[in-house]
Amino acid sequence: MTFSVHGLAVARGIAIGRAVLVASSRVDVAHYFIQPEQVAAEIERVRQGRNAVAEELQRLQADMPHDAPPELAALLDVHLMLLQDEMLTGGVKHWISERLYNAEWALTTQFELIARQFDEMEDDYLRERKADLEQVVERILRYMKGVASPVAPPASSPRKTQQDLLLDDTVDVPLVLVAHDLSPADMLQFKQSVFAGFVTDVGGKTSHTAIVARSMDIPAVVGARAASQLVRQDDWVIIDGDAGVMIVDPSPIILAEYGFRQRQVALERERLARLRHTPAITIDGHKIELLANIEQPGDAAAAVRAGAVGVGLFRSEFLFMGKNGNLPGEDEQYRAYCEAIDGMQGLPVTIRTIDVGADKPLDKGGKDTHLNPALGLRAIRWSLADPSMFRNQLRAVLRAAAYGQVKLLFPMLAHRHEIEQTLAQVELARAELDARGVPYGPVQLGAMIEVPAAALMVRSFLKYFDFLSIGTNDLIQYTLAIDRTDEAVAHLYDPLHPAVLRLVADVIAEGERQGKSVCVCGETAGDVTMTRLLLGLGLRSFSMHPAQILAVKQEILRADTRKLAPWAQQVLEGDEPAALLVS
Ligand code: PEP
Ligand code: MG
Repeated sequence: MTFSVHGLAVARGIAIGRAVLVASSRVDVAHYFIQPEQVAAEIERVRQGRNAVAEELQRLQADMPHDAPPELAALLDVHLMLLQDEMLTGGVKHWISERLYNAEWALTTQFELIARQFDEMEDDYLRERKADLEQVVERILRYMKGVASPVAPPASSPRKTQQDLLLDDTVDVPLVLVAHDLSPADMLQFKQSVFAGFVTDVGGKTSHTAIVARSMDIPAVVGARAASQLVRQDDWVIIDGDAGVMIVDPSPIILAEYGFRQRQVALERERLARLRHTPAITIDGHKIELLANIEQPGDAAAAVRAGAVGVGLFRSEFLFMGKNGNLPGEDEQYRAYCEAIDGMQGLPVTIRTIDVGADKPLDKGGKDTHLNPALGLRAIRWSLADPSMFRNQLRAVLRAAAYGQVKLLFPMLAHRHEIEQTLAQVELARAELDARGVPYGPVQLGAMIEVPAAALMVRSFLKYFDFLSIGTNDLIQYTLAIDRTDEAVAHLYDPLHPAVLRLVADVIAEGERQGKSVCVCGETAGDVTMTRLLLGLGLRSFSMHPAQILAVKQEILRADTRKLAPWAQQVLEGDEPAALLVS
């Protein structure tokens, strides 16, 4: 029966495919596709894990004190039985050999499948065995986690387009990933996979998970509440990334309609692609800088393909994620920055220093346990709390600047003493390189304006920095006190709130007065409905996901700032900017 699930539209387009459920396990689990020749080794890993857990349970049984309650022995028997159950073992083999899931993913998928059957059981006793099965599966996962996988996740298998998938006979149909939640690090792993779309139960439009989904340029919906409970493995689903809807088990008529819309989207993309080499100049002759946001050096290729004139935001924290505490050192970072510079073919690259914390934990599944993580030790605060780690990064960036054009950008600054400490660390990093006789290059220094305090003291920021970059994602979050990741308050997350617009307008105006460049690198920069307003407010530099660049360029080519400037002032002074924006 057809039904739909509504959430927040995050990344545009239409995806039609079969649902792949990612179970949320209490154990941090890697999800990736293996190669066909790795199937046997992956099945062997599960067998070893299962045997080890069985031995452990038998040992526990043997060592059980005589006065232990008899239920305990019975429980261990149940666990041993579940461990050997054909439904678990056979199912896991199926996901590995037929779907090429890695062992952990296969285990959690099969668990989820059996768990649903337990849920539907009439008998209370049997229904409660689900918890036992969960414990058994988690024991196996923990064992496997402690044993290095002989099968590494594919490092950088080329991403496939939906078209490739349709042509590729090793994959029958496009796959759509449905999960309760995905961390940004999870998304990075999936970035190298073949999914045609994403749906998550939780998350806001500018959560980092959504941002990475958008950078993959495939349809995505977040905040879809119970989606992962309502959809079953292999259900046919349609993701309408424009409307923020997932349609489950669509009827033939609905499928035909969405197939048609999918072709229209493809045609529109082809049309936009013709603008790639067209300079972004408004009707009245203002040259607009269109830059790319990237998460990994490999994203530079998409930026160049989209006609970006540089990288306006390299979110370097993604180099640090999923490393289980083995943070990349100076040399490894240096190589990554040089790779991005190479990828940009001589165009400038703005590297933002690490911005972890809040919804960007370093490790998958790792949750920030601070009471109020978005207000806690994140971004520059985290860097300044560990100066030697910070200088590792600064030295790597300074060295990369000898190799190509680099700008250095600092996130979340709010206090003057933070600025002074940051600049002192840059000086120290230079001195350390001098002492080692290692060459480095010149860098322009910039500050993110993403805390209201920074926007309000923009004049003093401009004394210290060569350029500014407005991070609207956080600026909105902190100005309106709306958690950007919380779908429950997503309706209040408003880029057009007069207070937000006032801050953005003031920063742009002050930059212009002082002759210093101001960019917007938050998600509003890539939102075509905001382009005219930002141009009207005087913005001349936009940084966004490569996938958005051509659509924004189209808006710029149609814009006349002589008309937009007075209109933007009206919008700014109105009580309800959103109403004026549609006029
Ligand atoms: C922002 O806050 O707008 C921004 C660009 O930084 P991030 O999204 O990485 O927090
Ligand atoms: Mg930010």
